[in-house]
Amino acid sequence: MKSNYDVIVVGAGPAGSIAARTAARAGLDVLLIEKRQEIGDPVRCAEGTGKEGLAKFIETDPAWICAEVKSARIYSPDGSFVDLNEEAAGKEVGYVLERKIFDRALAKDAAKAGAEVQVKTQATGLIIENGKVCGIKGKHRGDDFEARAKIVVGADGIESKVGRWAGINTALKLKDIETCAEFLMTDIDIEPTRCDFFMGNEIAPGGYVWIFPKGKREANVGLGMLGSRFTGKHPIEYLHEFVEKNFPEGKILETIVGAVPASGMLKKLSTDGLVLVGDAGHVSDPITGGGIYNGMMSGKIAGDVIVEAIKAGDVSAAKLSKYDRDVKAELGKSLERNYMAKEAVIKASDETMNKVARSLNGVDFENMSVPGLIKVILSRNPGLFVELAGLF
Ligand SMILES: Cc1cc2nc3c(=O)[nH]c(=O)nc-3n(C[C@H](O)[C@H](O)[C@H](O)COP(=O)(O)OP(=O)(O)OC[C@H]3O[C@@H](n4cnc5c(N)ncnc54)[C@H](O)[C@@H]3O)c2cc1C
Repeated sequence: MKSNYDVIVVGAGPAGSIAARTAARAGLDVLLIEKRQEIGDPVRCAEGTGKEGLAKFIETDPAWICAEVKSARIYSPDGSFVDLNEEAAGKEVGYVLERKIFDRALAKDAAKAGAEVQVKTQATGLIIENGKVCGIKGKHRGDDFEARAKIVVGADGIESKVGRWAGINTALKLKDIETCAEFLMTDIDIEPTRCDFFMGNEIAPGGYVWIFPKGKREANVGLGMLGSRFTGKHPIEYLHEFVEKNFPEGKILETIVGAVPASGMLKKLSTDGLVLVGDAGHVSDPITGGGIYNGMMSGKIAGDVIVEAIKAGDVSAAKLSKYDRDVKAELGKSLERNYMAKEAVIKASDETMNKVARSLNGVDFENMSVPGLIKVILSRNPGLFVELAGLF
């Protein structure tokens, strides 16, 4: 490892790898570090993402696709359900990935573009001089090191410390954290081309259960609930209950716990010599918890702004604030809308959810967007208008 780079990216998830790849492709000297010994493992994700979004960043490779999803079904607490086709289901379905392979493929792309990749290498602090971020302190395979860079990219996920070290307020309120548990299950009866979602305050307070197929009889079965709805019963306990009821014969191959920001993006994503991407910048979708696409998009935007800033010889907060503006222009509207939708949905009683699901009986969802769906819900349930009016 050298002691000087143009860019150091902390964290080799989708957001970090895309930022590193973008900067390296433009000829910058890039170091991408990952604290784990294997990129992409362990997976903390249900691995669902949209095809169109993915295609913007990487050529599809069957090696990292487990299932192609054609539709989604949303169950309300009484078992009524709404079926959505692929288009209406939005950007969270399309493919169920094998992220162990996918994340590695993205990092490999960054390496191919010229980035140096180091695993088992953890950032433990920042070098800050005259209020400007100038590099990182870290541990590389157990040994302390320091490396300088013109710009540091914090791509260190939900557990991000990089932003905090730089003085950015990254605190998440309990009501804005979706805490999750997930099993990779086999030997279960599922619809292999459909993602299922189960709503209900009894099964997942302030969240939902998901079943994302990974094969004919295999799926990620998981649950997210809002931190503010925690009453002593953990997500994994809710998940065990769901699985015992619905898949008593199923076998659990992997258990995952994790969290995802449901807050909308940070007010400030950059400062002198530093930008935050992906979950570190809270760009994940507040209502679905999906962060793969948004993470990659923020990584790409960051890469482009970094190239421009370094070429101009100006890595000041003022110059890098273009990154904040560009991310806002690209993702801000949907994050704001979905944050408001989340705030409305978490207040809904089971009875309201049942009513909404029943009212959608017979609706043709062909080519209907999520905002279109919300409009239909409102027209059939005028009583909900006050709660959801902010969405428009
Ligand atoms: C249970 C669960 C299910 C989910 N399901 C979906 C889904 O179906 N679809 C979807 O789109 N999103 C889903 N998400 C969200 C998605 O996983 C994240 O939004 C996405 O991984 C964010 O990418 P990222 O690159 O920002 O961060 P991450 O993928 O978290 O990568 C951050 C990386 O940084 C590394 N790191 C952290 N600190 C340091 C350090 N100090 N030094 C070096 N390396 C460091 C970490 O080890 C990690 O590899 C889910 C999340 C959870 C928890």
